[in-house]
Amino acid sequence: MSEETVRPAVFLDRDGVINEDPVEFVTRPEELQLLPASAQAIARFNALGVPVIVCSNQSGVAKGLYTLEDLQRISERLQELLSEYNARIDAFYYCPHDDSDGCDCRKPKPGLLLRAAREHCIALERSVFVGDSWRDIVAGRSAGVKTVLVLSGHVKPEMLDSPEMQNHPPDHVAPDLHGAVEWILRLVDSSE
Ligand SMILES: [Mg+2]
Ligand SMILES: [Zn+2]
Repeated sequence: MSEETVRPAVFLDRDGVINEDPVEFVTRPEELQLLPASAQAIARFNALGVPVIVCSNQSGVAKGLYTLEDLQRISERLQELLSEYNARIDAFYYCPHDDSDGCDCRKPKPGLLLRAAREHCIALERSVFVGDSWRDIVAGRSAGVKTVLVLSGHVKPEMLDSPEMQNHPPDHVAPDLHGAVEWILRLVDSSE
């Protein structure tokens, strides 16, 4: 694979970043609640030809709450909701395991991002991971991408002082994905 084909990407956590953070898990397509401003942000990355790749922990599969087939239908529903904003996800990477499985893909481990980067020729050092929890920040940092914490999901503004966040500071904090677009574009769009 030649050097010219390597490109930056925007990696996104799913729950709390693209759709509203569920209390526990999104177990059925009809439970998905899209964050409209996030859809608009994704459409901007799409328009610039920057790959948008979801990297999401879904331990509900390991817990038997839903199946891989359900997860696939949830992804399809998300694409359908995004299409109303001319937005789309280019690839989905899910960790279906639980802590006890000892896999290498459950965030805060970087396995999902590393696999996605290999399979899509992504230049990690010019890429960014946007998440709503400390696990996302640690996974991104371990994978060698820049990290953005959004406050549209798990972490609320008053939780920024928590030891977990103090120990794992992101490169940037934004209210939501839409609010992070300019910062992200400076990084991924300046390099070509
Ligand atoms: Mg999340
Ligand atoms: Zn895993």
